[in-house]
Amino acid sequence: MLKRTRDYSQWPDVTALTREALQNENLFEDSGPQWFIGKAQRPAQTAGQAQGEREKIIKRVRRDAPDDLAAQAIADRLDSCMPDQRCMSGGCTECGRAYARWFVASTVALLGDME
Ligand SMILES: [Zn+2]
Repeated sequence: MLKRTRDYSQWPDVTALTREALQNENLFEDSGPQWFIGKAQRPAQTAGQAQGEREKIIKRVRRDAPDDLAAQAIADRLDSCMPDQRCMSGGCTECGRAYARWFVASTVALLGDME
């Protein structure tokens, strides 16, 4: 198994709440919660789609900004994202999707408690 060289979860841009929310690997899967988006009511992004988008971003950054150290650092961080070792970057489609799913699940639980 590949081992990440940096633990991004301890970086200052990652809040304790984000760390806690993204520890739940179930949020990175396709099981509930599920919802529809927009007027067309299309299904929310799947785990596979989020992973594909993350990989596209990494590829584009590596190709289009090879001399931009900041862009390459972001690509490195996104490239390190894997199960049980999430990058927790706001630019990561997988972590962003999981965060949205955590928010929806938490909101549904809160509203359920209010009834
Ligand atoms: Zn990530």
